[in-house]
Amino acid sequence: MIEEITAKTILNHVKQPDPWFGLKYNMNLYRGCQHQCIYCDSRSDCYQIEDFAKIQVKINALDLLEDVLPRKRMRGTIGFGSMNDPYMPVEREYQLTGKALEIISNNKFPVHILTKSDLVLRDIDLLKDISRVYAAISFTITTADDDLARKLEPGAPLPSARFRAMGKLAEVGILTGVTMMPMLPFLEDSEQNILQIVSWAQNSGATYIIPSFGVSLRPGSREYYYHKLEKLFPGLKEKYINKYGDQYQCSVPRWRELNKAFQEEIHRTGIKTRIPVFEPEKRTKNTNQIPLFE
Ligand code: SF4
Repeated sequence: MIEEITAKTILNHVKQPDPWFGLKYNMNLYRGCQHQCIYCDSRSDCYQIEDFAKIQVKINALDLLEDVLPRKRMRGTIGFGSMNDPYMPVEREYQLTGKALEIISNNKFPVHILTKSDLVLRDIDLLKDISRVYAAISFTITTADDDLARKLEPGAPLPSARFRAMGKLAEVGILTGVTMMPMLPFLEDSEQNILQIVSWAQNSGATYIIPSFGVSLRPGSREYYYHKLEKLFPGLKEKYINKYGDQYQCSVPRWRELNKAFQEEIHRTGIKTRIPVFEPEKRTKNTNQIPLFE
């Protein structure tokens, strides 16, 4: 179900310094997510999204952005994709992400996009333009196994399609890589899976892979995840309950060993484990021309 809503604001300040993606601002053009990953943290009660499968489209988002962005004194990275995927299927029709990128490009702001979709390629020319300031596209890839991904991320394009999209972005010089998170205990925590992701990332021109060796579960997201485990992987829910109880951070059992294998492989390939980020700067009349990242 899709519903059009009117938003009051569109660009949120990221209050704490963001060491991972260097975000200064955050933007969600939609509420809810059609990718329906079974482990999604956005289902947690704390976010107060009643029906995560219902997609709300912030129909006035572009007007709000057009108004607020030129008035921002600080130029810093705008993040897409914290609470939903900016390239989920509804984006084909509404094109809010594509049009927001046009506004961002005109205002010379940097962006970071987190996605599981190859629809991002539709905006490759815009992203190339924005990358003269700074653009990074991170593909979340938790498994190299397309069949497993069909169960875990039923509404999202397959990992193989994500790697192909990554290759095309890298080919035209856009900074891109993998967020290998979460890693689901007893499902994705094998050395073979990790090494396969690293190998395909390398072949696809990834500059970075940011790993996580576990999953976070809290009220709301935990119940949904367990409900899906029961249906898809009989017996696994009990294994989780025995091992983790009500724990928020659920690390994979052999995380030290797996991290060692990951680090060795990363070292061999030369892929980084951090994204080169854009450092926020005060805007002056001239800052629109400065390409800058460390
Ligand atoms: S793509 Fe991201 S936001 Fe959407 S359901 Fe999956 S984990 Fe949640």
